[in-house]
Amino acid sequence: MENPLQFKDLGLDNRLLKTLAHYDFKKATEIQQQAIPYAIAGKDLLASSKTGSGKTLAFLLPMLHKSLKTKAFSAKDPRGVILVPTRELAKQVYSELRSTLSGLSYNAVLITGGENFNDQVKALRRYPRFIVATPGRLADHLDHRSVFLDGLETLVLDEADRMLDLGFAPQLRRIHKAAKHRRRQTLLFSATLDHDQVNDIAAEMLNEPRSISIGVSNEQHKDITQRFYLCDHLDHKEALLDRILEQEDYRQVIIFTATRADTERLTEKLNERKLKAVALSGSLNQAQRNTIMSQFERAVFKILVTTDVASRGLDISTVTHVINFDMPKHTEEYVHRVGRTGRAGNKGDAVSFVGPKDWDSFKRVERYLRQDLNFDVLEGLEGKFKGLKPRKPVNKGNQGNKGPAKPKVKQSAKKPAKRDKSYYKNVAVGDSVFIPRKKTAPKVDDE
Ligand code: ADP
Ligand code: MG
Repeated sequence: MENPLQFKDLGLDNRLLKTLAHYDFKKATEIQQQAIPYAIAGKDLLASSKTGSGKTLAFLLPMLHKSLKTKAFSAKDPRGVILVPTRELAKQVYSELRSTLSGLSYNAVLITGGENFNDQVKALRRYPRFIVATPGRLADHLDHRSVFLDGLETLVLDEADRMLDLGFAPQLRRIHKAAKHRRRQTLLFSATLDHDQVNDIAAEMLNEPRSISIGVSNEQHKDITQRFYLCDHLDHKEALLDRILEQEDYRQVIIFTATRADTERLTEKLNERKLKAVALSGSLNQAQRNTIMSQFERAVFKILVTTDVASRGLDISTVTHVINFDMPKHTEEYVHRVGRTGRAGNKGDAVSFVGPKDWDSFKRVERYLRQDLNFDVLEGLEGKFKGLKPRKPVNKGNQGNKGPAKPKVKQSAKKPAKRDKSYYKNVAVGDSVFIPRKKTAPKVDDE
C-alpha cells in the first residue's frame, strides 16, 4: 500500500475508498485513472483498454459513487444496470459488485438466462438498487413487466462488442428505450472501438461521450508470452498438448477448442490420464455451468476445456496457461482468449496449435497483432506441415486459387478427412452456435 492515495485522487467517496482498502491495490490502473473522473463528472463514456486492465472497477466505482452522492430518481427502479455478454461474466461482475458494496446498504441482483424466471421476478420485487444482467433475460423481464427502468441512473455496457457479435442489438435497444431519459448516464466498454456496430449503438445510446482508448487491443501484452506450434493433424496436436502439460509448470490451464464435441472428447482423454480436466460448453444447463466454473475457480480442476463461451472477461488469477488447441475463427477472440492469463500483473503463457485448418486464422491473427510470429518446435514432435502458401484473400471459391496454392489446399483437406471425420464436420456447427452471425437466437450465452 505504498500509494493508496491514487484512488482518492480520483475524487471517489470515502466509503468507497474504505472498501477499496480491502483490495491490496497500489494504485488505480490507467483506464481507471482516466475513466473514473469523467464518469464521476457525469459524462457518458466510450472506452476501451486491454484485457485484465481493471475495467470492472472503472465502471463500478463511479456508478456507486453517484449513488452515494445523489438522491435516487426513483424508490423502486434500479439505480444501476450492468449488461454483459455471458452468464459467467455476469456472475463474476456481480461478485465484484458485491464485494465493492460491502459495508454499504445497497442490494443487488444477478439476472441471467438459464436461471429460474419466477425466482428472478421475486428478487426484482424487492427493488434491488443494482442489477447485473445478460441482455436477453433482462429484456424478457421488461416484457414481463417485472422490472422498470424509468428511474435508471447508470447503464453500463461491458464487453459491448461481444454483446453485439452475439446478436444482442435488439435487446440492448429494448433496454435503452425502457430507460430513455435525459439524466441517464451510459458507460460503454468494448475491447475495440473499431467496430461498426459498437459505433452505431454508441451513436444511439450515448450522449456526447468521452472517448477513452488505452493502448490498442492488438498491442503486445508484456505479461503474456506467446508461442506457436505447427501441427499436422489432430493426433499431433494431442501429442503436443501432452508434452506441454507434462513439461510445464502450470497452476491452471484453459484450453480452447473449435467445437463443443471437442471439448468433451479432449476432456475425457485428459481425465483418462488423471489430469483433472473439466469441460465447459454452452450445451450444458446453467446449474452445470455454474458448478463447473466455481469448481475451476476453487482449483478443484486444473484444466478447463472450453470454446469461446469462456473467452471473454473471466478473471482467474491462477490461470498460468492458455492453450489454443484450435485457433479461433474470429481474430479478436485470440486476444480475449490469451487475455485469460497474465492478469493483474501476473505472468502468463499462451500456446497455440496451428494446423492446416488453423492456418488462415493464424495469418489473420498475425496481421491483426502486427507481429511476425515464429514457430517453436518440441523435440521429437516436429511436424511436416510448414504452412500454406498465400493465396488471394477473401475469395474462398476456386476463382482466386490458381497456381501453387492449390495442391497445398487440397492436401490440407485430405488429411483431416482421414483422421476424424466428425471432428471437422462439427466445426461449422460449433461456430455457428457460439457466434451467431444473424440476429436470431442468442441462445448459447443467454436467452
Ligand atoms: P478487464 O475487465 O479490464 O479485463 P478486470 O476488471 O477483470 O479487467 O480486472 C482484472 C484484475 O485486475 C482483477 O483481478 C482485478 O481485481 C484486478 N485489478 C483491478 N484494479 C486493479 C488495480 N488498481 N490494481 C491492481 N489490480 C487491479
Ligand atoms: Mg472486463
